[in-house]
Amino acid sequence: MSSYPKTIFLLFIVSLILVSCNCNKEKDNSFAEVELETIQNRKPKNIILLIGDGMGLSQVSASQFYNDKPSNFERFPVIGLSKTSSSSDVITDSAAGATAFASGIKTYNGAIGVTSDTLAVGTIVEQISVNGIRTGLVSTSSITHATPASFYAHVKSRRMHDEIAGFLVDSEIDFFAGGGLKYFNERKDEKDLTLGLVENGFVLSTENFPKILSDKKQAILLSKDAMPKMQEGRGDFLPNATQLALEYLSKNEEGFFLMVEGSQIDWGGHDMDADYLISELIDFDNTLGVALDFAKQNGETLVIVTADHETGGFTLASDERGDYNNIKPVFSTDGHSATMVPVFAYGLGSEFFSGIYENTAIYHKMLSLFQDN
Ligand SMILES: [Zn+2]
Repeated sequence: MSSYPKTIFLLFIVSLILVSCNCNKEKDNSFAEVELETIQNRKPKNIILLIGDGMGLSQVSASQFYNDKPSNFERFPVIGLSKTSSSSDVITDSAAGATAFASGIKTYNGAIGVTSDTLAVGTIVEQISVNGIRTGLVSTSSITHATPASFYAHVKSRRMHDEIAGFLVDSEIDFFAGGGLKYFNERKDEKDLTLGLVENGFVLSTENFPKILSDKKQAILLSKDAMPKMQEGRGDFLPNATQLALEYLSKNEEGFFLMVEGSQIDWGGHDMDADYLISELIDFDNTLGVALDFAKQNGETLVIVTADHETGGFTLASDERGDYNNIKPVFSTDGHSATMVPVFAYGLGSEFFSGIYENTAIYHKMLSLFQDN
């Protein structure tokens, strides 16, 4: 269609819409327009990014079949899909996947906060903290593990845990909770980085959750390496750490960014252990409830939930007899897969997260929502 008939056609459609509004829906329609305008003109002050490591759509579906409580995934009004490949591989790892979220670039598998040429690349944490926005990280892995590390460290390999811990001590992060104490105080170089944390203004907690009595930065390292599995008694660490992070970060007038990782959904997939995977997924689902309840009450917060990739080629298949009333979860690999992963969004700015896009777009959407304030 050339542009002239196209314009006529559009005018015709617009006039049809206007006529139908004037006839009977004037009131309803004007209300809807005002509401839409309000949503589009208001940007979130706070963003909570929750990453279910290895969480594809079958993993999310498990919350529907294996949780005795209603699934918090169903509370999100906006759903999109993220394409997860890295620059080196069709199937990404968590390091390249998290660097895409943290820095908006595609890099090679294993890279933490560096380009394909191993050059350091700025992270959203570095970029927003100059504006006084507070930042926090919570994970059920070591806090030096690939996903959280990509938000503050710049190293050529995810295996460099000691170096990554060094980056955290000097980073802009204001609150962190997870495992990994040994990378701070049982190091190859025999330095004690817990002293460095305190020197840099952190209150360090290694036994229990602290009662936050001051405005000081919080470092919470409750395990030598990864936190225990849910099946081994981790309890409510993830929802409770998220709650504590929100209480601390939300005291900041300039807003905050919080990344929360359900790290071990991925490990259940690698172990091809459905019970492990599902127990971690339900814990993550409960944590979504904490974030959504906060956002609903707060009114200025965007909640995004996604995954870096799918793990296990996980499927909710029928049992061996083909009984369609009996689910038997199965795995097709003990590694990651290339399948797209879902993105869920709630709150101010959520409308930008529908559709199909690259994982790097999540960084660009978050940064522009913070910057346009
Ligand atoms: Zn993995």
